Amino acid sequence: MKFFPYQVRKIQEDLITSLDRFLKSDKKTILIEAPTGLGKTIASLSSALQYAEDKDYVIFFVTSKNTQHIVANDTVKDILDHIDKKFTAVDVIGKSNMCIYSKNKNTIERTASLFSFGKDVKQKEQPKERPKVKNIEKMCAKLKEEGKCYFFSKTYKSNKLSPEAEFVLREYQNTIVMPKMLRKIGKDKHLCPYELALNFTKKSKIIIGDYNYLFSDGVREIMLKRSGISLDKIILVVDEAHNLPDRVINEMSANLNLNTLQYLISHLEKNHMFDSVVEKLYAFIDKIKDLNIDNTEKEIKQNSVVFKDELINNLETLLEYFIDINFDEFYDIVVNLLSFISLWKQATHETHIFFIKKNENFQAQKINLSLCVKCLDPSVMTNDLFKKMHKTILMSATLQPMDMYIDVLGLENYETKIFPSPFPKENKHSFILTNASTKYTERNNESYFNIAKNITEVLKNNKKNSIIFFPSYEYKENIKTLIKRELDDYRIFEEVRGMTPKERENMLDEFQKAQPSILLAVTLGSFSESINLHGEKLSIVYIVGLPLQRPSLEVKALIRYYDDKFGKGMSYGYYLPALAKTLQAAGRCIRSSEDKGIIVFYDYRFANQGFMDYLDSYEPELANNYTEIIEASNDLF
Ligand code: SF4
Repeated sequence: MKFFPYQVRKIQEDLITSLDRFLKSDKKTILIEAPTGLGKTIASLSSALQYAEDKDYVIFFVTSKNTQHIVANDTVKDILDHIDKKFTAVDVIGKSNMCIYSKNKNTIERTASLFSFGKDVKQKEQPKERPKVKNIEKMCAKLKEEGKCYFFSKTYKSNKLSPEAEFVLREYQNTIVMPKMLRKIGKDKHLCPYELALNFTKKSKIIIGDYNYLFSDGVREIMLKRSGISLDKIILVVDEAHNLPDRVINEMSANLNLNTLQYLISHLEKNHMFDSVVEKLYAFIDKIKDLNIDNTEKEIKQNSVVFKDELINNLETLLEYFIDINFDEFYDIVVNLLSFISLWKQATHETHIFFIKKNENFQAQKINLSLCVKCLDPSVMTNDLFKKMHKTILMSATLQPMDMYIDVLGLENYETKIFPSPFPKENKHSFILTNASTKYTERNNESYFNIAKNITEVLKNNKKNSIIFFPSYEYKENIKTLIKRELDDYRIFEEVRGMTPKERENMLDEFQKAQPSILLAVTLGSFSESINLHGEKLSIVYIVGLPLQRPSLEVKALIRYYDDKFGKGMSYGYYLPALAKTLQAAGRCIRSSEDKGIIVFYDYRFANQGFMDYLDSYEPELANNYTEIIEASNDLF
């Protein structure tokens, strides 16, 4: 506990003791579910650092969101300020946010033209305005290859760190080196911030980074090589670990869009190159189109359209051609093709599903097809990885159902710990509406009207900031007019498909300022996670219906897979992921001991035993209509 920099609360003491015990035990992994506000980040980092202080272990703190980096940085800084021992820590974010050329206004070509091969450029010749860079990886690779990145050429001399870069590494050792700081150093001293960050990983006891530094095969390989760290020397802390299964599945899945492929082939054709490859790839596209004549999703065998090796050989020839030529125009497509080929090579029917999927572009009124390979089992990666790591701490405010996370991540030799909410119980009221249904077969104007009536009666009475989560965008569309009509004194915000992070941030800002306001969101969307709205900024949360996925080919394959593996297909493949999302959304309401809130689970199915068990911490009351919610809210607010 000596590395913990603040006054320890009793419940924190329990958390730290559990972590200390785990680190000294022979267990490999611990899953910790502890509510927001308990101090998971500070407890895990201080315990891990104390355990590793005299050993050659390195702590990797990985998170799925950029916003969590700031929390982790502040936490590490507090620990380093508190202890006598000195350590270095570094936060590595993506190149696009670290490169001095990123967020520029002009073009990549302008950047490149500013630098002449082999010569240092005087300060006055540096670009005053940073050029706009669509793809930083591409620009970086090009500038480095041609010896035209001024900052890179100052960071390395004859393939070794330059004296200036060595000086920075010495000067900032025993501190936490953050991205903003590195960008400033980079600008002042004309060094590449990203390269500096990678070099700091060799000297750091704590490395903060995105999930993909350890959960993407390619990035992990580079990261470990550059930092000189082996897996068995890593103490891994995974923040927001409920996101891990989906992130790993995405990493191990890929799509090949046939229109894009056709676009690439047409370039070979125009240049009269590789005639037989062109012919075979066109034949391959035709076969897929024939197979998918009715434009539905269709499962295929990996070798059914064309033999795996034959497809790979032809695609690789295509790839080599575009890598050889100046492939600027095709860069993103080629990178995607590269990852598709590598996945198609590795994937097997044991753990992946292969299928043809139709992509509909409603605006362009076009349908096109993709060849997809989707991973069904994240444990293919995580089981092996967690065995090789020295220790892994998986933590989140909602890791329910824990059995599901244990199984799907393939954990072995683990322990679990669940901590109750430290916030006053009387500040929260939860309800399950037992006479409400959002079942597909029961969706009609009457049921939409009933839902809208329930919500608007409660909100008319309270005038409190509220978020209404719907099971889908379509469902939201059916109800929003009814809500808007009744609540004209509220400012109403709406989540729409494809919002950028900036648009979401701005909307959330406006939502907090406007009171009363309502956000109409989607449980499977972006607002059910990582938003912290305290006090009056959010008082009521409705979760309308179970956010069940459409029973697509992928969902059916997942159900089949988990049935075969654990006999729990419907649970792991269908119901429990929806429950996990529901819990995330419900968790937005109470974020501190001062917050007061009402949470309504609007669907009788939430009262089924299979769900109720996991809603324990909410202690929901069963209600028949909105009058009970109004009474409770009158008492609470
Ligand atoms: S080497 Fe560094 S500064 Fe140069 S382009 Fe790449 S990331 Fe940017």
